Order: sequence, then C-alpha cells, then structure tokens
Amino acid sequence: MSSGGKTGDGRWRWLSGKRQRRQEEVILMLLCALTISSILPFGIYRLLQGSWATAVVDMSLVAAMSAVIVHVWRTGRYQVAGLAVTIFYSVGMLAVVYLRGVALVYWVYPTMIAAYFVVRPSAALTINSIGLVLLVIMLLGQMALDNLSTLVVTVGLVNLFAYVFAYRTGLQTQRLYTAVELDFLTGVGNRRALDRKLVEHAQERRPLMESSLLLLDLDHFKQVNDLHGHAAGDIVLKKMAELMRAHTRSSDRIFRYGGEEFAIIASGAGLSAAAHLAEGLRAAVASATLLEGHPITISIGVTYMDKGYTPTDWLERADKVLYAAKQAGRNAVRVAEPFEDNVCRP
Ligand code: GH3
Ligand code: MG
Ligand code: MG
Repeated sequence: MSSGGKTGDGRWRWLSGKRQRRQEEVILMLLCALTISSILPFGIYRLLQGSWATAVVDMSLVAAMSAVIVHVWRTGRYQVAGLAVTIFYSVGMLAVVYLRGVALVYWVYPTMIAAYFVVRPSAALTINSIGLVLLVIMLLGQMALDNLSTLVVTVGLVNLFAYVFAYRTGLQTQRLYTAVELDFLTGVGNRRALDRKLVEHAQERRPLMESSLLLLDLDHFKQVNDLHGHAAGDIVLKKMAELMRAHTRSSDRIFRYGGEEFAIIASGAGLSAAAHLAEGLRAAVASATLLEGHPITISIGVTYMDKGYTPTDWLERADKVLYAAKQAGRNAVRVAEPFEDNVCRP
C-alpha cells in the first residue's frame, strides 16, 4: 500500500496532500471563537459579581463553543455542530433574558443573525421563529405591549432580510460551482470537478461505496485535427461525451480532464464491473460513426479507487495502464491490479 504522501507526478501533488477545510467549517469555528471572546469577559465579570446563575449560562456557552471548535477541527463535520451552535445561541439568549431581565433583550439580534451563517436558511428561520415565540411569551408581563410589538416586528424583519440574503447567496454559490466545474465544449465535468470528486471520495467515511476510475484517451486524435480541421475535432469530442452519457449510469460521473482525455468515476462499481463498462465503451466507440469517413477508437485505463490509496495514486495507476493500452496497439482496455503495484492485465 502507498502512503498518503506518495505523489510521483507533481501535477497531482495537492490531491494527496492534507484535506482542504471547507468554508463552512472555518466560518463555524470562527463564529465559536468570536462567541467565546465576547462572552468570556461577561462570564468572568458575572463570576466576580457573584451572579452565579448568569455566570453558569455564560460559562456553559463558552464550554460548548470550545467543544464545537475541537470537534469540527478534528472531524471536519460541521452540519450537526452548526445546528447545535444555533440552538445553544437561542437557548443562551432566552436564558440570559430570563435571568437578567428585559435589558438584555438586544442579544436577540446577533444570536439570530449568527444562525444564518452556520445552518441552512430554512433551519435558521425555524429555530429563530421558535425562539421568538418563547421570548414573547417570557416578556408578555414585563414589557409594554407597544414595545413588545416593536421587538417582534424588528426581529421579524431582521430574520426576513437575513433569510432572503442567505437564500440568494446560497443559490449564487450553487450556480457558481456548477459553472466553474463544467467543461463548456462537451458539457461534462472539468478537471476541477474531477479533482474535487476524487478528494470527496477519498474522504468519504462510509466504506460501503466502492468505486472505480476510468481514464479514456482518443487514439491518434491529432490526425483528426490535421486531416479534418479543429472544428471537426471539436464535434468528435462532443459526440464522444454524448456516447459516454448514453453508456453510463446516472450515478456515474463523467469528466473531461485534458484535451482529448476523459475520466469516469463509476460509482458502486468494483473492478470487474468497471472493466465491463470500459470494454462496452471501447466497443461502442469503435462501432459508432463519430466522424464520417474516419474511424475513431479509444484506449482506456481502469483502476479500483482503493481507500488505502490517494487520488494521486488512482490517477497514476489509471494513467499507467492507459499507457499500457496505447503500447498494446490502442483501441484497448487495461485494468490495474487492485493490490499489487506495477501489474497490468489484459
Ligand atoms: P494517442 O493515440 O497517443 O493518444 O495520440 P493522439 O494524437 O491522440 O495524442 P496527442 O496527445 O499527441 O494529441 C492530442 C491532440 O488533441 C492534440 C490536440 O490538438 C488535440 N486537442 C486537444 N484539445 C482539443 C480540443 O479542445 N479540440 C480539438 N479539436 N482538438 C483538441
Ligand atoms: Mg492524450
Ligand atoms: Mg490521444
């Protein structure tokens, strides 16, 4: 087995490096750190004052936030932690208002806004609505009705604006991701999308999802351009992408990772299923008419995406057997042996 640091070709070095932290993880940890630094002085002050109940609330929040930072830092899991932080915030805010009275009601604004940074907008809106109802029930006897109405309207508006903003930002991010990861000629995923998918697969904790990687390269494609022109070459690439879509399952992912090179992540496919898929693709291309009067063939390298290896290793192994397929005369499939390096089989 290879180590996580084995890279070989420098092009794929980052793929085998340390896990990249997601933006959501960083935001959640920053928010917790900010909360600790803003609540801790109050907690210490309450302790010195002898306001034990409030001090316990403050210090519990500080302890909970610290635990969340450690958890997210170590595991990278942020969804449940984000939900927990949002609930801590709401409960903390309610507890402080309950214990210290209406003067501390202004904490409702930052705690509710914070929710939109760490959970989905709909979850933030739901938790905040429940928090607002409980707050109103608590303050019914303590606040004049017109002041309470102002509080409800302003908190409602703050939530509405935050919801719309978070929802729109989420949509834009989604669109941006889609645009950035598409190959505009063929409509399949691009190299960036492939890299992300490979890293995601390597980090996937559920061991049940086995997958294989296919690298496909058009044979003598330079001749297509030389003999028929670049535009004809482009049409062949588009037809090639269509053919791959038609011959793969919807759960398989297709990428163009170089000029006339494609990759497929066959989800749920062990090595023999992937080899079968590759052979089917090779035969389909060989018998299709991608370009009138010019037979087109492909060579394919297949490797199992073994969790003991890194994305760099998978790409290198697939590339190595693809090269072997080329050496064997092209229009061929070669499969990397799963557990022994440097072995190819026909
Ligand atoms: P082999 O069988 O060894 O793979 O030979 P080949 O000619 O396919 O390999 P080579 O890498 O020498 O040539 C690849 C060619 O693909 C060269 C380049 O002009 C062409 N190519 C790369 N990207 C595009 C593209 O977007 N459109 C077109 N039409 N051609 C492209
Ligand atoms: Mg090539
Ligand atoms: Mg080629």
